[in-house]
Amino acid sequence: MVNINDYIIHPRQVADKSSKDSLCMAIKLALDVETDALRLNTQTFNTNRYKAVKKLDDYEKLKDRARLIKEKSIENLEQLILKLTLAVKARGGNVFLAETKDDAVNYIKNICISRKAKLVVKSKSITTEEIGLNSVLEKVGIEVAETDLAEFILQVSKEQPSHNVAPAIHRSRESISELFKKNFTTDKKLDTGEELTEFARDILRQKFLLADIGISGANLIAADEGAILLVESEGNIRLTTQLPAIHIAVAGIEKIIERKKDFGIFIELLAASGTGQPLTSYTNIIEPPTSFPIFNLNRRKDNQREFHLVLINNGRLNMRMDKDLKEALYCIRCSACMNSCANFQTVGGHAFGGECYVGGIGGAWTIGTTGDLEKARFAELCSSCCRCVPNCPVKIDIPRLNTAIKHRLLQAGKSFSLQKKFFGNFSKLVGYASIFPGISNWISSLDVSKNLMEKIVGVDKRRRLPKFIGQTLLKQYQSYRKNNPLKISSTGSTNGVVLFADVYTNYNNPMVGMATIKVFDKLGIPAILSKALSEGRAAQSQGLIEKAEKEAKIVAAYLENIIDNGKSIIVVEPSVLALFRYDYEKLINNDKLFEKLSMHSFDPIEFLNKMMHDEQLNLTGKIKLENIPENIFYHAHCQMKTIGAGSAAADFFRRIGIEVEESNVECCGMAGSFGYKKKYYEISKSIGNELIKQIKYSDSFKSSKIVIASGTSCREQITGEIDNPVYHPIEFLEILLK
Ligand code: SF4
Ligand code: SF4
Repeated sequence: MVNINDYIIHPRQVADKSSKDSLCMAIKLALDVETDALRLNTQTFNTNRYKAVKKLDDYEKLKDRARLIKEKSIENLEQLILKLTLAVKARGGNVFLAETKDDAVNYIKNICISRKAKLVVKSKSITTEEIGLNSVLEKVGIEVAETDLAEFILQVSKEQPSHNVAPAIHRSRESISELFKKNFTTDKKLDTGEELTEFARDILRQKFLLADIGISGANLIAADEGAILLVESEGNIRLTTQLPAIHIAVAGIEKIIERKKDFGIFIELLAASGTGQPLTSYTNIIEPPTSFPIFNLNRRKDNQREFHLVLINNGRLNMRMDKDLKEALYCIRCSACMNSCANFQTVGGHAFGGECYVGGIGGAWTIGTTGDLEKARFAELCSSCCRCVPNCPVKIDIPRLNTAIKHRLLQAGKSFSLQKKFFGNFSKLVGYASIFPGISNWISSLDVSKNLMEKIVGVDKRRRLPKFIGQTLLKQYQSYRKNNPLKISSTGSTNGVVLFADVYTNYNNPMVGMATIKVFDKLGIPAILSKALSEGRAAQSQGLIEKAEKEAKIVAAYLENIIDNGKSIIVVEPSVLALFRYDYEKLINNDKLFEKLSMHSFDPIEFLNKMMHDEQLNLTGKIKLENIPENIFYHAHCQMKTIGAGSAAADFFRRIGIEVEESNVECCGMAGSFGYKKKYYEISKSIGNELIKQIKYSDSFKSSKIVIASGTSCREQITGEIDNPVYHPIEFLEILLK
């Protein structure tokens, strides 16, 4: 038997993550307790999302339209608020514009008190979390029943939500079963999902029937007709907004768009991006106060419906004035950025999140609504892998937002600046270390140096530091060219290429650079090497934005000359290619030059694949047939996928008859310097283990033992965990060529 009196409302416990230590504690706790359920649940959403968006023919156009609508709405907020107010009032509803969260909760509390409410049913709403509504109502003796199943679970467990769409995503079925058995008197088994749902539903149905007031959020509100869009999976929103006579809808002002007829675009995008459905199970468009009959008559004798729309500013208009935080106002809270984020999949919103806003987009919202920069420290968990970027239905540059937050933390002296200086000035450091590589490598391999590095700059001593190589790519190229002078091409119509000598390839990884030069020589494509320049990657990833911008402008001007001379730019390091094709848009702030750079920069295999596709390159007779394996395993770097070059290497090797098995993890967990940092070592390893498991269990690895991976950091993560070498795709091609 369910004993309804055992259903006690508890205040939620929110972990503080504003200091470095408390963030580390939250990460550790999440890794210990939550990772398995989180991974399974977020990855399922993510896989379903990929399938769902594939079915949308006009997905990219839909995203553009949604973005434009949101941009226009945010621009015209004041007019839209006026229009909306008139529309709602004309129907007999009330509108309250709350300047602060206190204004909002006081207004709602006063309505509840004046209507003598004892019980409020509530549907899921992050905005009510933001204003701390439940605890205020509870303090004046009003019971608040969360009616979304996940929110109900969290209310019982006293936890904060860990995800926008599925707030209890970190919990497994078994843990929920245990929680209910501990907190309720019942003789039910509560083993299956159905049993658990039925149990919660029995409790909640009675709450609905007894409730005086229903409080909902809003996915969007149309100013022209005062209509509210609410999408849901359980039907509880429908009951919340329609069973009690009084309905209060709470929404941030950023939820307002101009026209009801534009809801369709967002309905499609929300369903596909959030849960991977063509349409969410319940899609409600309501224009309250509605004229539906009132069921809870025992609570309202006058047979009148009452509606209040509480619109909340609480920092949003200031966010609009802030060139970085403004982006967050376009968010439609679909959660795609969380589900596609390897870091979020591993630690969830309890570590990668603030008091109520979580994930990559949560930092900007936390600052915007609390004004407290330190509360957004969790934004440092964003490794700038960019996997969320193509998956955001309103095209928010989430890593860029987080870089801006890291920059602000640094400027405010609230970030570990020595570590940032170390990684952000990597080019200078490796330059000095490479003068005496033997000594540098010897020193960096000593336990005492590793301990010092860990203590002083936070580099985890369990990581192998990249080797310093005396013969930089520049030196190797010069001596190679003495014996192998450049020949003019007979292959295709290319004017030749320039291999960009990025910092890492020049100092730490010249082998891949030389493999590229040699492959292009063998294929008769003239390839020369650029100057070695610091391209801004390291600085940007540490939030050193001015430094990144300065470096980017120098590199862009240098490469423009090369492109104007008819050459293409080849880049072996995926994160540098992603800079040229994506980040430079904002770093160099010159649209024409950015377009030129992004159109003429290629990964080496991507370039060759394109030539083969355009029938400008034919490999017949150029490959040692005895070297061709039946199959290989390939892991594409996260940023390669984001810039649309993720499958080029797989395509290329398939063209020459090799079966390619591809990894489906979003990121290897290293993400440049992220995996080297002590505080993120465990997350990085945990993510990496997913990839390694996939490799070890793959048919291709079992048969050929050949693994290729495009990113240096990806290869670092895999090397040592398997017995075989891991090749950059161009190194592997070099082995295949005669
Ligand atoms: S850039 Fe990567 S780490 Fe950052 S929020 Fe997006 S997916 Fe997560
Ligand atoms: S930032 Fe984009 S992907 Fe993330 S929740 Fe908002 S709309 Fe969805």
